[in-house]
Amino acid sequence: MAHLIDGKQFAAKLRKKMTGQIASMKADHNIVPGLAVVLVGEDPASQVYVRSKGKQAKECGITSIEHKLEDTTSEEFLLNLISDMNKDPAINGILVQLPLPKHINSAKVLEAIDPAKDVDGFHPINVGMLSTGGEGMIPCTPLGSLMMLQDYHGDLTGMKAVVVGRSNIVGKPMFNLLLQQSCTVTVAHSRTKNIEAVVREADIVVAAVGVPELVKGDWIKPGATVIDVGINRIETPEGKTKLVGDVHFESAEKVAGAITPVPGGVGPMTIACLLYNTMVATCRHNGVEVPAA
Ligand code: NDP
Repeated sequence: MAHLIDGKQFAAKLRKKMTGQIASMKADHNIVPGLAVVLVGEDPASQVYVRSKGKQAKECGITSIEHKLEDTTSEEFLLNLISDMNKDPAINGILVQLPLPKHINSAKVLEAIDPAKDVDGFHPINVGMLSTGGEGMIPCTPLGSLMMLQDYHGDLTGMKAVVVGRSNIVGKPMFNLLLQQSCTVTVAHSRTKNIEAVVREADIVVAAVGVPELVKGDWIKPGATVIDVGINRIETPEGKTKLVGDVHFESAEKVAGAITPVPGGVGPMTIACLLYNTMVATCRHNGVEVPAA
């Protein structure tokens, strides 16, 4: 049976460490990190995420400001709000919860955020920084996935990794992060031929496809490490609903060397890394050394 990589426990450890580091920042430099989260509309999943982000930020000593806006909010209003927050020295991180209502151009909004405050790491400047190895902000889900891999394996040099999925928010940044760690990386997607055989070559599999339980146990090389990014709500035969990942956990855990569960794997690490990015941005804004994660 595979070793279970416990993202919930890892995230709690990371938050505890950050709480101490943030307390020292206040004591030594009188600096308190500020995170602004903007939610437009009533999407229930987004409301849960925003509540959770705000609560965990406060627990770590980060000032959390929430802007809850009507779904009729204009693009102009949102752009003006972002412009004000870009100028506000008390705000170090700005996060606009996606998806935005259809009448708002998401790309335009994300590009309006000051790259130095873009704690989601979605601004084109930060995307470029990641691919050229510059000092930018790294998207939270791939960063959390990498932290768990490094915690489990230590050095990843020379390992063969397959990332399944090529989205801008998970697949592509994950590719860049693994490449930076000197892995040999393949990115598979919906047009990949013989995808099972491609995945079976990997020492590390990162699944981010949004298809419930797509990656089966017989796709996995015995002993490989599997990071399951997927979060899918499916109906059970009993008519209830449950969360599953993009990996078929029961068959994969019999073959893998280590695996993240869903829930309790990548999800909690994503929020912890948002707080980490806020701390990093605050340190950079104030010319203070960034503490290690
Ligand atoms: P997207 O829908 O943006 O991208 C999905 C990717 O998977 C695409 O590149 C697509 O290929 C590929 N894909 C789809 N179907 C297949 C298939 N049958 N075989 C191979 N590849 C396929 O999804 P995201 O990257 O945004 O999210 C992926 C998953 O991760 C979702 O379950 C999402 O809920 C979850 N997620 C979890 C987070 C967390 O905090 N844990 C955060 C963000 C996402 P193509 O490009 O060819 O269409």
